[in-house]
Order: sequence, then C-alpha cells, then structure tokens
Amino acid sequence: MNRCILLIVLTLLPQCSLGHDVATNAKYAIVIHGGAGRISTDADHRTQRQKVLAHALSHGETLLKEGKSSLQVVEEVVRILEDAPEFNAGRGAVLNAAEQHELDASIMDGKTRACGGVAGVKTVRHPITLARHVMTDTRHVLLATDGAETFADQLGPENIQRVPNSWFTTDKARKNLREAQAVVPMPTEFCIGTVGCVALDLDGNIAAATSTGGLTNKKFGRIGDSPIIGAGTFADNRTCGVSCTGVGEDFIRNSIAFNVSAQMEYAGSSLNDSVQNLLNDKERRISGGIIAVSAAGEITMQFNTGGMSRAAADSTGRHEVHVAE
Ligand code: ASP
Repeated sequence: MNRCILLIVLTLLPQCSLGHDVATNAKYAIVIHGGAGRISTDADHRTQRQKVLAHALSHGETLLKEGKSSLQVVEEVVRILEDAPEFNAGRGAVLNAAEQHELDASIMDGKTRACGGVAGVKTVRHPITLARHVMTDTRHVLLATDGAETFADQLGPENIQRVPNSWFTTDKARKNLREAQAVVPMPTEFCIGTVGCVALDLDGNIAAATSTGGLTNKKFGRIGDSPIIGAGTFADNRTCGVSCTGVGEDFIRNSIAFNVSAQMEYAGSSLNDSVQNLLNDKERRISGGIIAVSAAGEITMQFNTGGMSRAAADSTGRHEVHVAE
C-alpha cells in the first residue's frame, strides 16, 4: 500500500513542480526610448513616432512572450527604429558638420557581459547588427570608422546590408543642421531621436542596445556615448540593463550606464533611485534620459530634458507609449 502511494507521488511530482515553476517565474519586461530633448510640436511627426514606437514595442513583447532571448529582442527592436526616419538612428540620422552621417551603436548581454559596438560607420543600414557581430564574431568590443566598414565588407551583404551615406538623409536632418549651424553654441535641445531598448526575458537574462546618429553638427570623427559600453549602454543580470540618451560627452565623463548598475550593486539602491540620483546630480550636470530594467523586472524611464519618447511593457500587463513630456 505504502509503495503504491510512493509510486503515485513520484509519478506526479515532476509535472507538478514544472507547472508551478513556469507559472511563478515567468516574467518579462521591455523598455524603449526614442531620444531625449525637445519633442517636436508637429502633430504628424508625433503621430508617426507614436505608431513606430507602438509597433516596435508590440514586436518586442511578442518575441519575449514566445520565449526569445532578450539579446534578439533588443536587436530586432532597434533595427525597426533604425529604419524609421522619425528617429536619429539609421535612416533619419542627424548630419555632422561635414554634412555626413556617422553612426554609432552598441549592444550588451547581461548574462555573459559580452558586448560589441561600432562607431562612425557610414554605409551600414543597421549599425546595431554590426555591433552584435563585433560581439559574437571578434575578440574585440569596439570597431570604428574604416575598420568597422571593412569588417562589414567581410561579413558580406547576406549579414550586413549596405546603403549609400545619402540614404540616411531626411529633410528634417538637413533643416536641423542649418539651424544648428546658425546657433552657437548648439543648444542641447537639438539632441533628439537616439534609440535604445532594454529587455528582460523569460530566462531572466537582460540585454541592452543603443543606436544613434549622434549630435547634429558634431565634428567629423566625434564619437558619443552610444557605442561606449558603460557610458551609453550596460547590462548585468545581477543588477539591471541600461540605455541612455542625451549629450554623449556628459554620459561618457560620468560612466552613466555603468553607474546605474554600480549603485544597485555597491550601495543597494533601487533601480529608480539609481537613475534619479544620476539625473539630479548637480555636480555631474548630465542632460538627457535613461531607461533601465532591473533583474526583478522593474522598469524605469526618466529624463531631465523637455521630453523623451518612450515605451514600456511587461508580463503584469503594463503596456504604454509616450511621445511627449
Ligand atoms: N547620446 C547621443 C550622442 O551623444 C545623442 C542622443 O542621445 O541624442 O551621440
């Protein structure tokens, strides 16, 4: 009799515990930004931004629900935004002082802390994908300018799509450059439209990605925070994933993305407080916005500029898109 009960218990146990684990541990979160700064008052532009962000968010959320990795999700979401001319990344990127586009991007895997970045690329349609190849196919972390282009040549068109530099140009980018060149010094409110995504997947892995054309009227060869791990992008499964937007020089000087994680790790700060402390720090004087997701699935989206386009969703049913303040 006892043996019989034991047999029944042993047969049922693995199924019970499996079902239970999946139900309680299943958790995902995703957050996206579309740049901090002055938000356009043009209604069409806002509507279009809203649409693209909503589409990118839904796409990312669907992938997460299907159990796809956060790394795949952040890359795919950023690729969508790189193709949208309403954002300053890929198509729609700002022009530098030499009327050229020089694009920066980076990606980081919070599980292994593998990461990759590209800086100053001119003919790569999706810089974020090239950054991911730097991470997976080289022993390096950052490739810049001609070297990054040569690396893209080696990967071939089946992996990396190429376009002429003029393909990235929009009327808006031209207008912004004309305005920026007429105003000295350049107001920070010109920095708008960089994109980033942070996600936590069902396996508890965090990834972060950022892509940008940088600052309008930037000097040729200028590299911002977006391709720099620890400045514009960071991810560590033990703490959080982070993507930043704003005046890149501020974010580099203050290792902002890493500092969000460091406050959590060393000072035990919450995700929200860590981000808020940095944005409010009068000594650091950074101007921009930060999105982040913690290992527990908390989301934060904060900025100290006029506005920041942003979107977030998670497994509790949260689903929101904002294009203004
Ligand atoms: N952080 C970017 C850069 O400095 C610009 C931005 O976020 O708008 O290149």
